[in-house]
Amino acid sequence: MKLTEAFQPTLKEVPTEATITSHRLMLRAGLVRQTAAGIYAWLPAGLRVLRAISTIVREEQDRIGAQEVLMPTLQSADLWRRSGRYDAYGPEMLRITDRHERELLYGPTNEEMITDIFGAVVKSYKELPLTLYHLQWKFRDEVRPRFGVMRGREFYMKDGYSFDVSKEGAERNYWRQMLAYLRTFRRIGVNAVPMQADTGPIGGNLSHEFLVLAPAGESGVFYDAAWEGIDWSKRDLDADSAEDLKAVQDVLATHYAATDEKHDEAAWEKVPAEQRREGRGIEVGQIFHLGPKYTEAMGVTVTGEDGSPTHPDMGCYGIGVSRLVGAIIEASHDDNGIIWPESVAPWRFALINLRPGDEATDALCARLYSADPENILYDDRKERAGVKFNDADLLGLPWQVIIGPRGAKAGQVELKNRASGERSEMPVDDFMARFG
Ligand code: ATP
Ligand code: MG
Ligand code: MG
Ligand code: MG
Repeated sequence: MKLTEAFQPTLKEVPTEATITSHRLMLRAGLVRQTAAGIYAWLPAGLRVLRAISTIVREEQDRIGAQEVLMPTLQSADLWRRSGRYDAYGPEMLRITDRHERELLYGPTNEEMITDIFGAVVKSYKELPLTLYHLQWKFRDEVRPRFGVMRGREFYMKDGYSFDVSKEGAERNYWRQMLAYLRTFRRIGVNAVPMQADTGPIGGNLSHEFLVLAPAGESGVFYDAAWEGIDWSKRDLDADSAEDLKAVQDVLATHYAATDEKHDEAAWEKVPAEQRREGRGIEVGQIFHLGPKYTEAMGVTVTGEDGSPTHPDMGCYGIGVSRLVGAIIEASHDDNGIIWPESVAPWRFALINLRPGDEATDALCARLYSADPENILYDDRKERAGVKFNDADLLGLPWQVIIGPRGAKAGQVELKNRASGERSEMPVDDFMARFG
């Protein structure tokens, strides 16, 4: 993308309504615009990040055999009356009446709808286990929407639901998702630590929240420093292997981690003092073993192995995709702007032309740009170098490729790594070979 043609509105002023870093940076870098309290429009750069995260989420869900569907945002109130949650959910639910006085709601989550769809289709234990997921906008009328997209009212979530005939099967699904989540977050470039959690209004008994460690987090967290060093992408674990799932459980059992809600002083005392870390965390996902709560309430059965009807045992698995965009920035920025992990950056390279109009500089930039336009944001504006450097640091693409008249003449490319600040010069061909 050429910056002269891009819809990439950076702001010079820090918007006053934004109180935390990620919110300020997202507005300043032109990722989102607020359109109403807690409701945001995603601009091209922000949307590219949202899509990159979604792709990783999909790949890791598909890898463990979950199947993608797409359920609507609007749901009928009657569906929620069947589970008893229509009244129980309270004022966070946005209730809507259509022209025929039918009651609808903008979905805050989808247990009822998926259970209903499942019940209408699946009849036998032979069709299980089954995990379905979707990525869809949710609405929760938060009392205090704040922190930008991190606590919006409309937000983008991946929610998945598993069905099995037995509790053991449901627990296996749970640990498979645990592994998929650990991999997903690692690939996205954040350290999201699984912590035992309360199940709240969703119900059930086994649950973990995934928290990104960052000072702006709303939850207090207590964890073993060992969590800072675990790279799940390097562990060759297979969700189909019972042994590997056990290994995951062992890691969780060995290294303490809990939010303030579940913090256990006695267990904390057993963590070596120099390993104890206290801080704040941002909830970016949560998984639950639900049991037959929804299938019982909604009267959904399948034929069991012995021929009698049985209520399938469920799990549900959420990831806050839009919240993650803010959480990544909270965990990865400096005074100059965002530092995107490579895997979710809106573009990989910022190509900075220091002298538009200089023939050799323009020609080299054009050559580099045409090699990979999809992954390059080309700053071809007639602006001062300082403005370009500031904007490049603010948007935080992983690599800055800096071309001026001197380098262009010598056939040299200057490369800056946004995260480390390290600069190096290399011949154009070396650059093309390394990054092409
Ligand atoms: P919170 O405790 O922050 O209110 P939650 O526990 O109510 O979140 P869940 O029902 O577990 O949320 O939903 C799954 C995920 O959706 C959360 O882990 C979070 O990442 C995301 N999420 C929840 N509420 C919001 C929101 N208002 N804005 C953005 N993302 C959200
Ligand atoms: Mg909530
Ligand atoms: Mg929560
Ligand atoms: Mg939660």
